[in-house]
Amino acid sequence: MTNKYIYFIANWKMFGELGSLNTLHKVTKFFKNFKNKKFTKIIYCPPSTLIRPMSKKLKDSGIDVGGQNCHENENPGPFTGFINCKMLKSVGAKYVIIGHSENRKTGENNKLINLKIKSALKSGLKIIFCIGETLQEKRKKITKRILNNQIKSGLNKIKDKKNILIAYEPIWSIGSGLIPKSNELLDTINFIKSNNKNYKVLYGGSVSTKNILQLRLIDNIDGFLIGGASQDSKKFIDIIKKSYN
Ligand code: PEP
Repeated sequence: MTNKYIYFIANWKMFGELGSLNTLHKVTKFFKNFKNKKFTKIIYCPPSTLIRPMSKKLKDSGIDVGGQNCHENENPGPFTGFINCKMLKSVGAKYVIIGHSENRKTGENNKLINLKIKSALKSGLKIIFCIGETLQEKRKKITKRILNNQIKSGLNKIKDKKNILIAYEPIWSIGSGLIPKSNELLDTINFIKSNNKNYKVLYGGSVSTKNILQLRLIDNIDGFLIGGASQDSKKFIDIIKKSYN
């Protein structure tokens, strides 16, 4: 288990304030001497207002920062309330989450997600591309069809995929405390990788200190996108530590 490169991506969603950055020193201190550092990539995706202060705090720590979404237009424009990838990059982001189900729910479709991914790649950001099925789709046993469609449309006409991480996040698992059965997760991740053997595929949805050992046994997973548990630095550190037990 130990020699595998693993991503731990913290999705802070619309949580966190300037004061919460103080908790970062615990994570940087832990990571500085972590024995599995060279196999571990930590990325924080805070609300946009915290990207600059966070990237300053994390400078030289080996931990990167990313945005949680972006506008599809690379150039400035009349898009009230939005920011684009160049803007994210200019404040220190190296990554951006695109296609999160919380944004798909408010109207982002696969075509728009494709435009956003293209724009992010042009701006030199790496992408955390989220896909996942609803509970209803899972019950109908059409998960693979849904994921295939999300991947094909989201990555349409994108040849170079090396800067894209795919985060499989079953929607019914996000924030619910539920995770897929291990055999189902193994099968789904293998299915995603069957599209392209070079894909790095992460799992997201209710990852916690309690289930990380079980999840780490599924050895085709390349890392985790962690929402709730990532906002507490102790829990986040514990998840990382337990991953290498
Ligand atoms: C997420 O929203 O990306 C996520 C994984 O959330 P949680 O860990 O809280 O389920």
